[in-house]
Amino acid sequence: MTHTRCLIIGSGPAGYTAAIYASRANLQPILIEGPQTGGQLMITTEVENFPGYPQGVEPSQMMDDMRRQAERFGTRFVSGSVTKVEFGSRGVEGRGVGCHKVTVEGEEEYEAETVIIATGASAKFLGIQSEQDYKGKGVSACATCDGFFYRKKTVAVVGGGDTACEEANYLSNLCEQVYLIVRKPYLRASKIMQDRVLNNPKIEVLFEHNTLRLTGEDRVEGADLVYKKGEPEEEIRHIAINGFFLAIGHKPNTDLFRPAVECDEEGYI
Ligand code: NDP
Repeated sequence: MTHTRCLIIGSGPAGYTAAIYASRANLQPILIEGPQTGGQLMITTEVENFPGYPQGVEPSQMMDDMRRQAERFGTRFVSGSVTKVEFGSRGVEGRGVGCHKVTVEGEEEYEAETVIIATGASAKFLGIQSEQDYKGKGVSACATCDGFFYRKKTVAVVGGGDTACEEANYLSNLCEQVYLIVRKPYLRASKIMQDRVLNNPKIEVLFEHNTLRLTGEDRVEGADLVYKKGEPEEEIRHIAINGFFLAIGHKPNTDLFRPAVECDEEGYI
């Protein structure tokens, strides 16, 4: 078992930031990287709004910069995911008070005086059966990962936030046409992102539409949408699409820590 004063779980911007500060405080932290080194940012195309990068920056470059900064002050990195935590044990070998045990990939054990949870979030799905039926067959939660497969095709993106607008714009560079399915009569995204979407001739925004089901033989070939024409009148509309991209927000990755750590109903600590 490895003992450390500070163990950080997660390698997104929060994890690396914690590592920079903890290592500069001489705590010699160990950082467990998790399933995706660099975190969720790694699946976006470009970061335009982080201070210090006037021309924007590729996410892999930015995360590598953060990692090297943490490494420079003595952070140790461990690849793999945490599979178990035991918070508040009193130190397995009688060392220290209030130590915590953290297991990585079911076997490697760490005893930490402090644990910093920086595990971020995962993409949310609508919860309809067809998402499961067509997973990997036209349904995706990451345009930058899968957009390439839909070159010159027609796709739909669900959501009205910045992620949905960014994904719709990204896909419009590859695809013939992009539908943006928005449940409200307006977009929630920032003004600059809204303008990009609304002025993009390849994107058609379907306000007040909800997805009922996806259709298709083996892969996604279409979607049935419910259009609310003003309560209680509803109309079912069909769109022909080859790909269906979810961009409706995220769920915090905190299941592993409950109930030891108190979370709100959405799962945020
Ligand atoms: P948001 O929570 O901001 O938006 C989620 C969107 O999905 C909302 O429009 C919401 O609708 C919609 N939605 C949620 N559940 C459903 C559902 N079941 N059916 C249909 N639609 C649904 O998440 P984002 O991921 O877009 O953004 C998260 C944060 O990250 C924000 O602060 C955003 O500004 C930021 N961000 C910034 C970027 C940038 O600046 N480049 C890029 C990406 C994200 P409703 O509005 O009706 O609630």
